[in-house]
Amino acid sequence: MSEPITEERAKGKSVRPLKMLIPFISPYKGTLLLALVALLVSSAALLAMPIAVRNVIDHGFSVEDAANVDRYFFVLLMFALVIGVFGAARAYFVGWLGERVVADIRDKVFRHVVRMDPTFFEVTRIGEVLSRLTADTTLIQSISGVGISILLRSTIQFIGALALLAYTNLQLMGILVIVLPVIIVPIVAIGHWVRKLSRDTQDRVADASGHAAEILNAVETVQVFTAEELESRRFGDAVTESFVTAVRRIRVRALFTTVAMSGVFGALIFVLWIGANEVLAGNISGGELGQFVLYAIFVGVSGGALSEFWGELQRAAGAMERLAELLEMEPAIQTPSNPIALPASQGAVSFNGVNFSYPSRPDTLAANDFTLNVAKGEHIALVGPSGAGKSTVFQLLLRFYNFESGQIKVDDVDITKADPREIRARIGIVPQQTIIFGATAVENIRFGRPGATDDEVIEAAKMASAHEFIEKLPEGYDTYLGEKGARLSGGQKQRIAIARAVLKDPPILLLDEATSSLDAQSERLVQEALKVLQKNRTTMVIAHRLSTVLEADRIVVMDSGRILAVGRHADLIEREPVYARMVDLQFGDKVNPV
Ligand code: ATP
Repeated sequence: MSEPITEERAKGKSVRPLKMLIPFISPYKGTLLLALVALLVSSAALLAMPIAVRNVIDHGFSVEDAANVDRYFFVLLMFALVIGVFGAARAYFVGWLGERVVADIRDKVFRHVVRMDPTFFEVTRIGEVLSRLTADTTLIQSISGVGISILLRSTIQFIGALALLAYTNLQLMGILVIVLPVIIVPIVAIGHWVRKLSRDTQDRVADASGHAAEILNAVETVQVFTAEELESRRFGDAVTESFVTAVRRIRVRALFTTVAMSGVFGALIFVLWIGANEVLAGNISGGELGQFVLYAIFVGVSGGALSEFWGELQRAAGAMERLAELLEMEPAIQTPSNPIALPASQGAVSFNGVNFSYPSRPDTLAANDFTLNVAKGEHIALVGPSGAGKSTVFQLLLRFYNFESGQIKVDDVDITKADPREIRARIGIVPQQTIIFGATAVENIRFGRPGATDDEVIEAAKMASAHEFIEKLPEGYDTYLGEKGARLSGGQKQRIAIARAVLKDPPILLLDEATSSLDAQSERLVQEALKVLQKNRTTMVIAHRLSTVLEADRIVVMDSGRILAVGRHADLIEREPVYARMVDLQFGDKVNPV
């Protein structure tokens, strides 16, 4: 079963999880090869350049060689061109590769997560999944494209320049090998410190923005409780915290620059000084010294890049590990290998001795020996106190959970032996809280059947008594309904949900009547729309209105996951004191309006 993802587990130092990137990179071998070729050519040109520089210095300025001056400079220019063109080609191919790989990872992770069962979402915070999809994939992006390029380029340049350094002048290289670590070690150490502090800063910024998101999502509640000042102060504190951490980082960064700049230039000047003395003594030529200094710079730059990159690599490995954890989780509800196809659309449902506990509450039966046959076209009302298990019946029929024992059949097919998607395709649902997506009215209704034409959407809206109000919206059906449908009233949202179900046209309908009271006009419209929707469909409704129970073919009275009684209203009132009491409590003085 799925378990929460923990940061700690992913903090290992190993970079082994990056192996998991291979299947994502391998489809693009061609691009990788092009990048490698470009890299090799530009690196070779870069490494050869100091030799050209040496020739320019040694021969380019001498009177005897005057005829060749142009040629030396021309060769130098050619090197510059090759480095530029192939360097750009390398940057293009690796950049493309990084973006492509990350797009594929995001796509795969989302496809996977969207298939997960409710149990997964009970234990995993949505924010965490989102941060995997964005922050973690971004970390991988930086290493899978540009990162690979830095790694290869710096490795080639580091080894190449070191070898050519030895070839150019062994004695000077000996001095450099002694001097370099004295400078590089503190630079790398301070670099690590800077990196740690910049991660801290990012965390503080994430804290502050997480806090802001939470408050802005519930801004009305904050205003009702006049807590704007308090919340602003809390946000201000979080921002100050991130500022303080950032300043600490900037200070260390300043130290880093001081040490790095003076260290690197100091070392170079030191070697130049020794080299200059050698030139004066006639032991080496000026060009050789120039060549040597260039190689020394290459070694320093690529060595620095490699050490910097190691940290990046570790962070990316952690990110990849967290993503892999997500990808490895499997939904508890799986499609059987040979699913039984459902017969042509009908709509009969049967529950037979179903026992079920929610995974997080294994000791309590939310459905207890639940047995009920619903004929095609029958209208069933479920009633019972809060927590009786009415919604659970819907959840089980929708195949969101595995139940312990018993059987549920849709059109005589055991739902555990069928494809869950086929079962769900046969069921329409109008929930208590309508979900409106941040899209237009037409898109929101079309969610019921993605292939539907505009005319079909309008027809469904008309049947759901939604056409009139949608027409009056500023841009009619193309009006953006706002995040979570913030621009619609409760009744309007419900009618959109009903239009969706009309468009889906399922043989089985599950309704969870809204408890929130609508005004009389709105209520009448919703009721009319529901009546149209239920016609000729098997309907199970969680009833919160007396009119619903009065009209139902049968009423199922539930408590603690059990069925207490089944019958018609007048009959149950007579013989079921539990029902009579429940009706009295739930519907109050509306008990006998008929
Ligand atoms: P209401 O009318 O208040 O919506 P209900 O009759 O629909 O109630 P259910 O939502 O089916 O009741 O809940 C039945 C029991 O299962 C309750 O005790 C509830 O606390 C429990 N329950 C519901 N969902 C979960 C869940 N995801 N995990 C654990 N327990 C749950």
